[in-house]
Amino acid sequence: MSIEKKPEILSLSEDELAALLIADGHKKFRAQQVFQWLHLKQVFDVRKMTNLKGDFQDYLTEKFAFPDFRILNEVKSPSDQTAKYLFDFAGKQVESVWLPYENRQSICISVQSGCSLDCSFCATGKIAFKGNLTAAQILSQVYGMQQIYDRRITNVVFMGMGEPFYNYDNAIRAADLIAHQHGMNISRRRITLSTSGVLPGIKRFIEEKQPYRLALSLHAVFSDKRREIMDIEEKFSFEEVLEYLREHRGEMQQGQLMFEYIMIDGINIYPDDARELARWAKLLRAKVNLIPMNTEFNGMHRPSEEKIYDFWRQLVERDVVAVNRKSPAKDIQGACGMLAGRNHA
Ligand code: SF4
Repeated sequence: MSIEKKPEILSLSEDELAALLIADGHKKFRAQQVFQWLHLKQVFDVRKMTNLKGDFQDYLTEKFAFPDFRILNEVKSPSDQTAKYLFDFAGKQVESVWLPYENRQSICISVQSGCSLDCSFCATGKIAFKGNLTAAQILSQVYGMQQIYDRRITNVVFMGMGEPFYNYDNAIRAADLIAHQHGMNISRRRITLSTSGVLPGIKRFIEEKQPYRLALSLHAVFSDKRREIMDIEEKFSFEEVLEYLREHRGEMQQGQLMFEYIMIDGINIYPDDARELARWAKLLRAKVNLIPMNTEFNGMHRPSEEKIYDFWRQLVERDVVAVNRKSPAKDIQGACGMLAGRNHA
């Protein structure tokens, strides 16, 4: 006998929720009420949904699975207010990072537990891959962190553990739900999906005219170098990806495309790298986020401040919009490429 799984209520759009409620004889307006409790107020206990009658609360509990997560660990940075959270979803663990800035509140969330790829500079790629998260589990990281803080989240980056385009449907569904006007209503231009270059996902993203920002984790602009540090290069070469983006750049919005570029000493910050990176960035009108490697990892090193500045200068002198991202959350192992689900006390 198979046990039927209840639908996860947090994964449903308002329309899907309404359709299910109506099919069971309930009024359509109930869907908006429930949706707002979940996505706007982040209340997951039906008994606390005070404008719903008791029998309707019973029906919801019977019919749907409600968010079920635990935060196993919290590590706060003593130096920069950032914090890292270890979420557990029935044995699938992921990390998420709280990143306060002066004029915005960002968070970085995960889409998979571990990652099926293995970029050589990234700690996530070294741990066991436990699979995709559901949209509800992706959202639970957002809402779980929002419940902790008074400060409203303004920016969400899908740049934690995992490759969003290997979990495309759930990642886009989660983005749609946090942007929903009856939910957190986060501006779509402040939601960023980051991909290592999964071409079928990029094609779909553009064909569907998704409104979110797209960050391409480039990290090298010569195929031999890129193959050395990113195994995705074997499957989808960056040249194929960039050529596709060049052909379709007109279908994207101004400012929608970014390159992420991790700076690794002795590997990808030579003058040739700067020249090629600048050429592609200008061709594709892409802003470049430079991310100095955060620490020593897997035999790779962070460049000196002088080298970091010099590489940045070479891009800017070629009229590229390049930002040298500081490395927030560095001291709590929460910066780019450092999420590995370790418990840091
Ligand atoms: S950098 Fe991203 S794609 Fe590469 S192993 Fe880490 S999580 Fe996966």
